[in-house]
Amino acid sequence: MRNLLIADRRPSGSGVIRVIEPAKGEPFEEVAAAGAADLDAAVAAAKAALPAWSRLTAFARGEILFKFSDLVRAHAEELAVLEARNVGKPIGDARWEANHVADTLRYYAGAADKHFGETIPVKKGGLDITLRVPLGVVGLIVPWNFPMVIATWKVGPALACGNTVVLKPASLTPLTALRLGELALEAGVPPGVLNVVPGPGAAIGAALAAHPDVRKIGFTGETATGRAIMAAAAQTIKRISLELGGKSPCIVFGDVNVAQAAGEAAASVFANAGQDCCARSRTIVERPIYAKFVEAMRAAAQGTVVGNPLDEKTQMGPVISVHQREVTETYVALGKKEGARLVCGGERIPGPGYFLRPAVFADAKPGMRIVDEEIFGPVASVIAFDTEAEAIAIANDSIYGLSGSLWTNDLKRGLRVAQALETGVLSVNSSSSVHLQGPFGGFKQSGLGRELGMHALDHYSEIKNIYFETAP
Ligand code: NAD
Repeated sequence: MRNLLIADRRPSGSGVIRVIEPAKGEPFEEVAAAGAADLDAAVAAAKAALPAWSRLTAFARGEILFKFSDLVRAHAEELAVLEARNVGKPIGDARWEANHVADTLRYYAGAADKHFGETIPVKKGGLDITLRVPLGVVGLIVPWNFPMVIATWKVGPALACGNTVVLKPASLTPLTALRLGELALEAGVPPGVLNVVPGPGAAIGAALAAHPDVRKIGFTGETATGRAIMAAAAQTIKRISLELGGKSPCIVFGDVNVAQAAGEAAASVFANAGQDCCARSRTIVERPIYAKFVEAMRAAAQGTVVGNPLDEKTQMGPVISVHQREVTETYVALGKKEGARLVCGGERIPGPGYFLRPAVFADAKPGMRIVDEEIFGPVASVIAFDTEAEAIAIANDSIYGLSGSLWTNDLKRGLRVAQALETGVLSVNSSSSVHLQGPFGGFKQSGLGRELGMHALDHYSEIKNIYFETAP
């Protein structure tokens, strides 16, 4: 059994999390679950470790994070296999993610001493300066779809800025977070600076969000959970950053290479078995190419290699759980009932594990629940449009605004539509959503604040203004 990672403390024996391997539908690890006493101990350990960590020079913190990054790189294969087995994601994707974790730590190691204050020529004269000050103990609550990647997007800037951390991974996927905690200790991150407490969200996550000694919550997960965290955080005016749900559009104009755009559009929904906050699950296609495009999406979906995550050829693994499979199947049934045309997929693959065939719905329309709601499974809805204005209106007709893609060879139209779309991140003639060096986050109910790039550092520090009178 893997233990919680809290400085100088063994778990209180609050229970056990049985970690399931979704490709087999069987348990493959056990992890100690944190109870309320463990959470308090983790926050206390983080509080005790704060003065020494925050007083290190930014350069010294950066040096430790460089070592952390190097150790992650050296263990990339181990982490990738753990993630592939625990989440069910293809090993090739998991390898990319493990290396992205190392890249992220390296980025914030280098950023630690490049995030600084200003001198301001105030009217009164004298000397006015700003300092970047750590927030204190920060609570990080992360989901199960990209466990180590999303944890590191928060841990990297939090530690670089001099905060100490209590990290709560999702109960379904605690393994890589715990391993990262071990590697951090090995790299020289002092005990108590990064504490990992797997445990149920409704108890441990909620207690972290309400804890009086926690100054900030960095959260990624469902919009409904984000609302609960925002309400809990309000009691102590905690800082919050939220990365929430999405129902992102992919707009395809008639002037593109249909086979290429359809292949990319399909991959941008079916990657990670559709369990991706950036999944472009509303494919909005100009009418003259609509029929041809739907056919190309069908070919791409049916050509997707679904299977064992550890097989190098696999492009899509199982969904994470029995629950997620049921949710997806419910939406597939609903789509048919709502009048959309199921072109392919949606059915279970016989045998063990939570495997589904990627599904494509044609003749989908706004107002249908499969179009309006986040499914978080491998289901694409293809919608037709006639005018540019209609495409923009359909794309923006959502409570969400996280990601989006836009395909056209008309430069002026690309620029016009890109500016009109209400999304925090957008790719034009590409399906790439995430760039470590650029800001990532959502408009509307997709979130609050930005991760990645130098922007993330603003969310893990306070600005302190100091005025010095210099008149004799
Ligand atoms: P979730 O909201 O159920 O859980 C996320 C985390 O919050 C888990 O660690 C969980 O244990 C914890 N939690 C649950 N209830 C809580 C509560 N009341 N108080 C505090 N913590 C609580 O989300 P999930 O099902 O793990 O992840 C899927 C969701 O995450 C999807 O909606 C997806 O779009 C979203 N997501 C968003 C992004 C993004 O960057 N915008 C990235 C990945 C996933």
